[in-house]
Amino acid sequence: MSSRFTRRVYIGDTPAEAWHIRNVLDQHGITAQLRNETLFGATGEIPVLESLPEVWVSEGNSAAAEALIKEIRSAPAHSDDWECGDCHELVESVFAVCWRCGAPAGDSV
Ligand SMILES: [Zn+2]
Repeated sequence: MSSRFTRRVYIGDTPAEAWHIRNVLDQHGITAQLRNETLFGATGEIPVLESLPEVWVSEGNSAAAEALIKEIRSAPAHSDDWECGDCHELVESVFAVCWRCGAPAGDSV
């Protein structure tokens, strides 16, 4: 049973981002391969666009991986939920203002 990574499903802005994607895929049972991450910052002579870290998966995993990455990219992290400074309601991070009283997120700091 060979794993051939033939489908590129993600190009990261940073190696850390690519690693994060790879780790989440791994947690869901999708084996992924990172490419270019070792080249990142290794030498100033590599054009930036050619050294961006890439995440590759096998053909059979590509659909699941793409769906998962889409989810990762769009789903708000629950740790980013914030507490309203006015009414102390816990507000999901997708909202910029308190859904209850309308106070802006910045007020909670
Ligand atoms: Zn509020």
